Formats: sequence, C-alpha cells, structure tokens
Amino acid sequence: MTLYDARQRPLRDLRVSVTDRCNFRCTYCMPRAVFGPDYAFLERDELLHYEEIARLARIFVAEGVEKIRLTGGEPLVRRDLHRLVAMLSATPGLKDLTLTTNGSLLRRQAKGLAAAGLKRITVSLDSLDDAVFKRMNDARVPAAQVLDGIAAAQEAGLAPIKVNAVVERGVNDGTMVDLARHFKGTGVILRFIEFMDVGTTNGWELDRVVPLREMVESIDRELPIEPAEANYRGEVAKRWRYRDGSGEIGFISSISQPFCGDCTRARLSPEGELFTCLFGARGHDFRALLRSGASDEEVTAFLRSVWRVRDDRYSELRSAATSGLERVEMSHIGG
Ligand code: SAM
Ligand code: SF4
Ligand code: SF4
Repeated sequence: MTLYDARQRPLRDLRVSVTDRCNFRCTYCMPRAVFGPDYAFLERDELLHYEEIARLARIFVAEGVEKIRLTGGEPLVRRDLHRLVAMLSATPGLKDLTLTTNGSLLRRQAKGLAAAGLKRITVSLDSLDDAVFKRMNDARVPAAQVLDGIAAAQEAGLAPIKVNAVVERGVNDGTMVDLARHFKGTGVILRFIEFMDVGTTNGWELDRVVPLREMVESIDRELPIEPAEANYRGEVAKRWRYRDGSGEIGFISSISQPFCGDCTRARLSPEGELFTCLFGARGHDFRALLRSGASDEEVTAFLRSVWRVRDDRYSELRSAATSGLERVEMSHIGG
C-alpha cells in the first residue's frame, strides 16, 4: 500500500522523537536561556509508550513506510531505548531502522543497540575544536567524548556511520575543513547542514547561514570534490565525492535549495502527535486515538485522512511572510 499526499508525494519515512529532553544545550537547537531549569518538559506518562510506538510503526509500515529514524531530543537519554529498537526491528516489512544521536552516551549503549537490531547510526558533531564545540553544545562535552562514541558504534558493527555537522557562520565555519579531513578515507560519511530556522527560539538569521555553494567551495579548495549521483528519490543530502577516491561527503541545503517536492517524511512527536512538516505548528493527535481504544483500522483511517490532504512545502515558500509564524521546536520533533 502506498499513500500519496495532495502533491503526489508518497509516505515513506517516519521519524520518531522519543523524548523532548537532552543532555546538550546546542545554541542553535535548545538555547539554555529558554530550555533552563524551569522549562516544562513532558512528564513520563505523557510520552508514547514503547508498545504504542511499535504499534504505530506496524500500521505505518503497512501503509508504505520503509524507513524509521529514532530521534529526539537526545534519544539515548530515554530509558532502555534498546527495548524499543528490538520491538521496531521486528516490524514486518520495515527496510531500514536508524537513529540520530549526539553521541555522548554511545560508548555505554552502542553494543546493546546493535544487539537489539539497530544496523546503522547518525552522530551529530559540529566541530573538533573543543573551544568551538563546547560553545555550541553548551554542556561542556568535549569532541573526544563524541569521537569515542563513534568508535564504540564502529566496534559494535553499526555501519555506515554518518556524522552531521550544523554550520553557523562565524561560529564553526572555520573548522569545517578540519572535520572533513578527520573523516576523509575512514568510511564515515560526513554531512554539513545549513543552519535552519526551525522553532522560534534559536535566534536564526539568514546571514548566519552558510549556503551549500559556499560550503562546497571551502571544502573543494583544500580537499578537491566532485558531485555524485543521489542514491534515491528524496535523499536529503546532496552527495559529493573526493576526487582522490577516498569516499563521499554530503551537504544538506534546506535553506538555499529546498527539497519539499521530494519530501516523503512524517514526524511523530514524543507525545504522539504526527507532524507532516518540520515547520508545522500543530500535529495530529495519535496518542488520544490509541488511548481511546481505537482499532488498527481506525488508526489507519486517521493516518490516511491526514496524509492525503498534506500540502506542506514550507522551505519552498520560506519568506518574510512566514518567518514570524508559530512552529514546533527542533528538540521536540527531532529534525
Ligand atoms: N540529539 C540528537 C542529535 O543532536 O543528533 C538528535 C536530535 S537533533 C534535533 C537532530 C539533528 O538536528 C542534529 O543533527 C542537529 O544538529 C540538527 N539540528 C538541530 N537544530 C538545527 C538547526 N537549527 N538547523 C539545522 N540543523 C539542526
Ligand atoms: Fe540536543 Fe540534538 Fe538539539 Fe543538540 S541538536 S540540543 S544534542 S537535541
Ligand atoms: Fe518537508 Fe516541510 Fe522540510 Fe519541505 S519544509 S522538506 S515539506 S519537512
């Protein structure tokens, strides 16, 4: 079964945010001034239970979802995440299960996650320069701790490993080449991400975005690269490869070259609201439906009714007119 939205985009990917909490306070995502000691995070019983997530996953996969990504907040701060991974990896028909993490807690959990059925992983790491990295994560975590998490993931057999780095002008753009040099030739695929205007708290301004073209030029100047073919329709990262054959590198350009036309992703918030766009203000409440005792058929019918009318293309429409609107925070919905 394939579900198409109002723009003929199929539902293929589901991103599940398992918590709105995080042990980092990245300035571009959860600025400490907003996400401080008084911030009202979700209570435990507000979160979808693992059994509820697994049930939704089965229903979504039957409707055409092929890939599930666990995210957050920081997914590894949710207790016993390996239990959820084990349940999801047993979903009939699911082709790909992965997870995005800040890597700081991976050393302790990588083996258990792999044993539960996780195959690959994406780790976020914005800079190898500790002064820069600590300023960005605002939690005093050194780059070495994340690199050690990546090593633990490699030892556990998770592959391929991807590393995401958000680039902010004047903050870490000067350390991009070092990061690229570090991972070049290691099999780890590094992807640079344009700083996005997600949420309403991170002080986003267009002049702090380093556009794809400029990122490519600054890498190419030191480490020559050339464009490579996309792996599949809807692939978010633009792929490039090193001219000396030592692997690939990617760029995610949702600001300068939006990709809404191929956007096949739905996002489930920690409390069970389904968002059909990263820039949505409101989700559709699946938790209430599940907890009212709805049958699988009723949940399926709700999903179909939501996806069929989906018309979102925020990044293509991004303009002064949309910049003041209310929208969900990245740390809530998970990117
Ligand atoms: N805590 C995990 C992590 O950092 O990998 C998972 C959740 S995090 C919200 C998912 C991804 O979103 C990370 O790679 C992060 O760098 C990225 N991200 C967060 N805020 C962003 C922003 N304003 N612009 C671009 N990417 C952002
Ligand atoms: Fe936490 Fe990830 Fe957001 Fe950083 S980007 S604050 S690690 S959720
Ligand atoms: Fe998809 Fe919305 Fe991002 Fe466009 S702006 S690519 S529709 S999530």
